[in-house]
Amino acid sequence: MTAPLIDPFARAITYLRVSVTDRCDFRCVYCMSEDMKFLPKKDLLTLEELDRMCTTFVKMGVEKLRITGGEPLVRRNIMSFFNAMTRHLDSGALKELTLTTNGSQLHRFADDLYAAGVRRVNVSLDTLDDEKFSQITRWGRLKQVLNGIDTAQKAGLRVKINAVALKGFNEAELPTITQWCAERDMDLTWIEVMPMGDIGNENRLDQYWSLKDVRKEYESHYTVSDLAERTGGPARYARLEETGQKIGFITPLSHNFCESCNRVRLTCTGELYMCLGQEDMADLRAPLRDHLDTEAPLEQAIRAAINLKPKGHDFDYSRQAVDGKMSRHMSHTGG
Ligand code: SAM
Ligand code: SF4
Repeated sequence: MTAPLIDPFARAITYLRVSVTDRCDFRCVYCMSEDMKFLPKKDLLTLEELDRMCTTFVKMGVEKLRITGGEPLVRRNIMSFFNAMTRHLDSGALKELTLTTNGSQLHRFADDLYAAGVRRVNVSLDTLDDEKFSQITRWGRLKQVLNGIDTAQKAGLRVKINAVALKGFNEAELPTITQWCAERDMDLTWIEVMPMGDIGNENRLDQYWSLKDVRKEYESHYTVSDLAERTGGPARYARLEETGQKIGFITPLSHNFCESCNRVRLTCTGELYMCLGQEDMADLRAPLRDHLDTEAPLEQAIRAAINLKPKGHDFDYSRQAVDGKMSRHMSHTGG
């Protein structure tokens, strides 16, 4: 192992999120426009290149890998990549291999993921209503996702639900979704909608439901106690005393969370984003592709990039306009 990755603000970088594809079988209205243009296949890192990339990060001290996208489980032959990462779990260098998925393909992959060493998955689900689900995902089918969640739990995977808080859309469902998660022993995290990429005719400010208000809504139904738990990311946790359930709040807009940030994000084309909310990135594909017999140039490029990790992001809706908007989509950087 080489020297650990420490950024200029003394934050150790131990968590890599990897977007393995920008494609998806859904078109969620807050994430993509309906007629999304995807990247040419030749620009994508191959699964072998993704392996080399991740292996280098692990060698440099990354202990947690989260595979995301687009929809990671629609990437062809993705299990061969998960299976390749198992060796880092076996060696002890990697502490956790996990993924964020829309759940549509979980019924096919849950057992294989468990066999590869995955123990937890985040499933994104914003509503339990069939019609609303079709409306928000445009192309998704709720039944298939629920089936996927069942299969995942049967396979032994711990499932966490991520729901985007959407004004006028899932506000009224908060008690139902919470109760459903409690019954199935799943943690639940709410996410504030972020200004990532062009989404056609939708308006971000119309979608934005502040998690301060979500919390107030909880307080009208439950006794809510803050938990000290931190994961180096934007989530803050609270417990509902009546059910014992843990609820997460990801609040990039109403709170700043950057001081303990331990993560960076790799896109499917090999760009490294040091911060989800800034445009700065470093190209890691060239040092990877140009040197097939040594990882030294890649390691140097990674270190140089980490030295440029900014202190934080500038998202701001407070002036009733979307400030700090990113031109790229969440599916590009990996949510
Ligand atoms: N397709 C997978 C999924 O939906 O879980 C993984 C990729 S998706 C980009 C990761 C997460 O980003 C999802 O939970 C999704 O709800 C969230 N997301 C997408 N666009 C967002 C936005 N503009 N603001 C906040 N969250 C967003
Ligand atoms: Fe696809 Fe996930 Fe984006 Fe929805 S949020 S369109 S499932 S990448």
